[in-house]
Amino acid sequence: MKLYSTNNKDLRVSFKEAVFNSMPQDKGLYMPVEIPQLDAAFVENIEQYSLPEIAYQVASALLKDEIPADDLKALIEDAINFEAPAVKLDDKTFVLELFHGPSLAFKDFGARFMSRVMAYFLKDGEQLLDVLVATSGDTGGAVALGFLGVPNTRVTILYPEGKVSPIQELQLTTNGQNIRAIEVKGTFDDCQALVKQAFADADLNNKFRLTSANSINISRLIPQTFYYFNTYAQLKKQGLSDVVFSVPSGNFGNIGAGLLAYKLGLPVKQFIAATNVNDTVPRFLETGNYETKPSTQTYSNAMDVGAPSNWVRIMDLFNQDVDALKKVVTAYRFTDEETLAGIKAIDHKFNYVACPHTAIAYLAVEKYRNENPADESAAVFLSTAHACKFPDIFPEEIAAKIEIPEQVTDLESKPKQADQLGVDFEGFKAYLLKG
Ligand SMILES: *Cc1c(COP(=O)(O)O)cnc(C)c1O
Repeated sequence: MKLYSTNNKDLRVSFKEAVFNSMPQDKGLYMPVEIPQLDAAFVENIEQYSLPEIAYQVASALLKDEIPADDLKALIEDAINFEAPAVKLDDKTFVLELFHGPSLAFKDFGARFMSRVMAYFLKDGEQLLDVLVATSGDTGGAVALGFLGVPNTRVTILYPEGKVSPIQELQLTTNGQNIRAIEVKGTFDDCQALVKQAFADADLNNKFRLTSANSINISRLIPQTFYYFNTYAQLKKQGLSDVVFSVPSGNFGNIGAGLLAYKLGLPVKQFIAATNVNDTVPRFLETGNYETKPSTQTYSNAMDVGAPSNWVRIMDLFNQDVDALKKVVTAYRFTDEETLAGIKAIDHKFNYVACPHTAIAYLAVEKYRNENPADESAAVFLSTAHACKFPDIFPEEIAAKIEIPEQVTDLESKPKQADQLGVDFEGFKAYLLKG
């Protein structure tokens, strides 16, 4: 697979280069030059395959020239070692649970696959790869747990003191091995500024092989296509083949992967992009004007994004043709008040506890059905995180129903390990140089 930049279609880089750089110099995003069509017989008989088998078929269509078959199979089995069940709520409504990985969020798919792809490309004897990440919560946990124990890599995570949730802090600080956590006496922006400065620092770049493992890395997008195919397989097994997906969206990586799956040959009737009041994309589809704005804090805080970084990828997949895009993508926004009402409605109707991001995707299904009564497709809304990660949002009687998964109870018995640093760059640099 060769890749170009969305800012320069003449550029050609290898997959390996795109993985280690995350982003082209021109600040575009890497996209595959060619999007292959999956074998029609495979899609036709997809219900006969397991998640790892489906993942291999999809990954291999893109990466067969980069990673030999046996290595790719082993890499996938190691990375995608948890389930992604489409749980049936009623005859035509399903919730796709993407939170069964170690960090209890769908970002595990991307982070675990990326870490193993990076480790694969680090040949024996190559310099240790140093991953630097600033996090406000969720991304850091997925990256830390994704790289945990991966050979020839080391992760340094900076998080703002007192500003991540208790579960998130456990995920960041109880790992040991090749993961270091730094509790910064400052804000997320301070953490991000420190990491940015480190990437620009000549001394650090001479001594270390630094990478950002950024969320826009192409190796995080590819594994997110797997569960769209796998869901289609699960529905097809039940005799359902018309499907719409509702995706709670912030940076639009998740729905971007869904649209990549569509372009690879997955038959999907409609994608619904569900946002909170950070509604740059719904406004764009309504007005034709793409206007970013500063983000607003909401209950669904992993979607508090005013300038969705993957949107250029989606426009690129549709060759900038907004009319073609609008035939496949509908977008709706919901307020915090509506989100809370959505959480209560899902609990009431299905006795199911959904996290605030998931509730927004559910509300979008309801709205889509109201506006499109003739469409009898099955609807799948993606559950991007386990409800236990957002304990403060729920009314007491719903919170009481949340079961704490073993991933969390395991962590609670482990000691917190974090180094404390201030916001000055010299202190952070000295810390890194010590090794
Ligand atoms: C990151 C995240 C999202 C948003 O996903 P994007 O790919 O950025 O659109 C939604 N829900 C949860 C829980 C997340 O962590």
